[in-house]
Amino acid sequence: MTGLTVLGSTGSIGISTLDVVARHPGRYRVVALTANRDLEGLLRQCRRFRPDYAVMADTGSARELERRLRADGLETRVLAGVAGLEQVATLEEVDQVMAAIVGAAGLRPAMAAARAGKRILLANKEALVVAGALFMEEVERHGARLLPIDSEHNAVFQCLPDGFGAGLERVGVHRILLTASGGPFRTASREQLAAVTPEQACAHPNWEMGRKISVDSATMMNKGLEVIEACWLFHTTPERIEVVVHPQSVIHSLVQYVDGSVLAQLGNPDMRTPIAHALAWPERIDSGVAGLDLFQVGRLDFEAPDPERFPCLRLAVQAIESGGSAPAVLNAANEVAVAAFLDHRLSFTAIPQVIEETLNRLPVEPVTGLEQILGVDRRARTVAEQTISTRV
Ligand code: NAD
Ligand code: MG
Repeated sequence: MTGLTVLGSTGSIGISTLDVVARHPGRYRVVALTANRDLEGLLRQCRRFRPDYAVMADTGSARELERRLRADGLETRVLAGVAGLEQVATLEEVDQVMAAIVGAAGLRPAMAAARAGKRILLANKEALVVAGALFMEEVERHGARLLPIDSEHNAVFQCLPDGFGAGLERVGVHRILLTASGGPFRTASREQLAAVTPEQACAHPNWEMGRKISVDSATMMNKGLEVIEACWLFHTTPERIEVVVHPQSVIHSLVQYVDGSVLAQLGNPDMRTPIAHALAWPERIDSGVAGLDLFQVGRLDFEAPDPERFPCLRLAVQAIESGGSAPAVLNAANEVAVAAFLDHRLSFTAIPQVIEETLNRLPVEPVTGLEQILGVDRRARTVAEQTISTRV
């Protein structure tokens, strides 16, 4: 049996992962589950999957979880905080780590899994945005294996030949076409965008996701983060990546070869497909997702992204081109701005403004180590908060 740790098991990706796992009794053993504060959610999962460990990032919640588990007669060991997350990402009996914590908070445990040479199923794109060079170095050095869960990157991975790690040119790839749904406001005017609410932003037309990534999809920062993620995963640069808005979200991404061939991966928009792909790779297993009915899909549309209404995409590309600490600053400012928007403290159209101002106020530094980049992350959060408080 494959030993599995699910970091962020109570979230959208975590729940979909456990749904796939439950379809294959005898194939996966759930060693550890983790959550931030969702005590009831984690308790339910512990009752069902009987993991050896449960971790809550929040210490108070961890104590309460332990009490409730014991009252149920369950012996699951309860750990707390980042140290607990790192511990369950590196246990000997764990073969695969699903990294599905949202935001830079997922970086330390994902890095720990890389250092322990685990197979990492990476949903937590922010980890690569914040510390791509360090992360890829640790993966390489410790013989870890990185499998992308993000639907676009999983699609690209499926369309690339073995050996792409040596460079895309070496395997005849001309460029990567990253598809984007365009989010809930694809056709909204500038005036409409200025007035949108968190509820509207979180109502994505094709995907059901956590609130942070839903807002990222609405601003198109999600695609910006994904361009950066693709640069690290596929050893390439933004010039070799084109973003294509495709509102149906049926083509999950494409790879164009030098001979003119374009390979694509298609499917219904359901994260259980990339999750099942990565869990079983190089085998294939049932994911619970219905087969694609092309007659029902009917048509596939494509358009160019609009940089005027969605400046976040440009900011992300500029950040990866600046290099060094710039993507970490971009990510931290985005996390702060999105949280403020969800909290009704910032308008939707002010999100890119806060990010741009934060980027302008912090000089780009070379990346020298994990503690340094986490220091950059903290400083960028402070600057972004200041930027927000001086606006209102
Ligand atoms: P979510 O908000 O639904 O779940 C996040 C999980 O992380 C929860 O289990 C939560 O308890 C945990 N968590 C949050 N903050 C934490 C902290 N500080 N410390 C420890 N744990 C913490 O998010 P999601 O939609 O499942 O997304 C997770 C990751 O996957 C994100 O990086 C997102 O960009 C990526 N992703 C999600 C989807 C999707 O369809 N949901 C698709 C592609 C990529
Ligand atoms: Mg995606």
